[in-house]
Amino acid sequence: MDNCIFCKIASKQIPSTIVYEDDELLAFKDINPAAPVHLLVIPKIHLDTLSSALPEHHVMLGKMLGLAPQLAVEHGCGPVRQADGQYTGGYKTLINTGADGGQEVYHLHMHVIGGPKLWRGQS
Ligand code: AMP
Ligand code: ZN
Repeated sequence: MDNCIFCKIASKQIPSTIVYEDDELLAFKDINPAAPVHLLVIPKIHLDTLSSALPEHHVMLGKMLGLAPQLAVEHGCGPVRQADGQYTGGYKTLINTGADGGQEVYHLHMHVIGGPKLWRGQS
């Protein structure tokens, strides 16, 4: 897709800090991190929003979600269940969709956001 910044990242026309890549997906560091760990997972194909996904994209969407725990472990987010049964660490997965959903870049992406005590007091 012409003039799509994430398509250009996927095709390496513009640089990013890539943390994962396979034939379908790319994950890279958010340029304006909201937390110590802030990654974006994108499909290499252009889809403007989650709401444009068709049934044929559902396996790919599952792969995106399934990648989050691996990335979180690799970036030290846990979560870890302690001996007392409490959990420490953790992260958020987030897909902003459309204007009211806070989407700024119209190439489907999933945020993986984590780090010590982030989001405390936030929804
Ligand atoms: P959203 O509001 O869900 O569309 O989020 C778009 C995200 O893309 C924001 O968190 C931006 O900081 C991030 N972003 C925009 N341009 C780049 C870029 N060139 N490299 C990495 N992240 C980017
Ligand atoms: Zn795109």
